Amino acid sequence: MIVFVLYLFFWSWLPSAHSLEFRYHNSVEVEQYLKNTTKMYPSITYLHSIGQSVEGRELWVLVIGQNPNQHRTGIPEFKYVGNMHGNEVVSRVVLLQLIDYLTSRYLSDPLVTRMLNSSRVHILPSMNPDGFESSAPDCINTVGRYNKNGVDLNRNFPDVFQANNVQREKEVKAVMDWLTSETFVLSANLHGGAVVASYPYDNSNGGAEMQGGQSVSPDNDVFIYLAKTYSYNHTSMYKGDPCYGSSGFVDGITNGYSWYALQGGMQDYNYVWAQCFEITLEISCCKFPAVSDLPGLWDANKPALLAYMKQVHLGVKGVVMDSNANPIQNAVVQVNSRSNLNSFKTDRNGEYYRLLLPGTYSITVTFPGHKTVTQTVSVPYGPDKFSALTQNFILVKSDNITNSVLDNSPALLASTVTALTAFSIQRLLVF
Ligand SMILES: [Zn+2]
Repeated sequence: MIVFVLYLFFWSWLPSAHSLEFRYHNSVEVEQYLKNTTKMYPSITYLHSIGQSVEGRELWVLVIGQNPNQHRTGIPEFKYVGNMHGNEVVSRVVLLQLIDYLTSRYLSDPLVTRMLNSSRVHILPSMNPDGFESSAPDCINTVGRYNKNGVDLNRNFPDVFQANNVQREKEVKAVMDWLTSETFVLSANLHGGAVVASYPYDNSNGGAEMQGGQSVSPDNDVFIYLAKTYSYNHTSMYKGDPCYGSSGFVDGITNGYSWYALQGGMQDYNYVWAQCFEITLEISCCKFPAVSDLPGLWDANKPALLAYMKQVHLGVKGVVMDSNANPIQNAVVQVNSRSNLNSFKTDRNGEYYRLLLPGTYSITVTFPGHKTVTQTVSVPYGPDKFSALTQNFILVKSDNITNSVLDNSPALLASTVTALTAFSIQRLLVF
């Protein structure tokens, strides 16, 4: 009996029963692990391939969430992408550990449970499995960095500032298609060879974005905050210590361009073409360190990975509808005077998500043939509540209304949107 009780005691304290071994799993082992995870946690996981590498390896994405199979209105989509440079391998390890952590703690860990109930998390552990398979332990060399065609995938996306009509690699095309299949809100792209959080832009054409040696986006305040969220929740990144004699980084963050300019990078593409805020995380000085270093690297990054995921709830979100409560796709949602290179638009569900720091903002929604709506909103800090502020908009046909401002306060609702049906107002309130 005592033996049995001891057995139960140790079993209950046995996270290692779920734990993933700290080592470098090859592509076959990663696939097997992801498939086993979906068998173990079928209700919160969905595994799919977004395409294949040049050598035919699947680019597996594991989706984790309360409803992993499909998007639900109001639930933001988050993603992590690892191992884009095949020889920068720590990201593969920490993203697999993150999968293990999230799936095994759902319903027992309050933070994990709330995150998975309030957002959908997509994890691509390796964007460049061919490069990984050709790499070997080494801290600084570039063997395995490129894909099988010898192309640097982080230079192969359509560039925002300079035409680069090169052939898109299979791995890049797969990610581009993936970005059109979901409305991602927030993302990070994990690398190695430095310890710093880098944010857009990575490139410039010398226009108004160039400010003091940096290429500054209209959402620079949000990007700096996002980068600091990671660096200050990491055990040492915020110190900005240099690697191998290079210069360090104040607060452990940097504007991408001011560090070094690059063309065809993934983070600028995400931000400008997919409306997804993405930063680039360099998480280890050594690109391919010894296995014995891996537990410490996971411990250093774990709190930062979790804190960063919560930021998907920054700002404001909502649905833009017509006066019959039908969602409107491609309505432009403009915040204050932030003139983004490509306007933020509603998706096929009529939804928009806009990451903003707490404050008061003026949001203007426009759609052809409809009256422009401007709303002033006070945005609280959403991550602690696991939800951005919900602000829906109703657009009425241009010839149906004379007022141009719609406010959700009852007085203004009564005075300006008398044409709205009771049904559509009800839809507003239950979002
Ligand atoms: Zn890299």
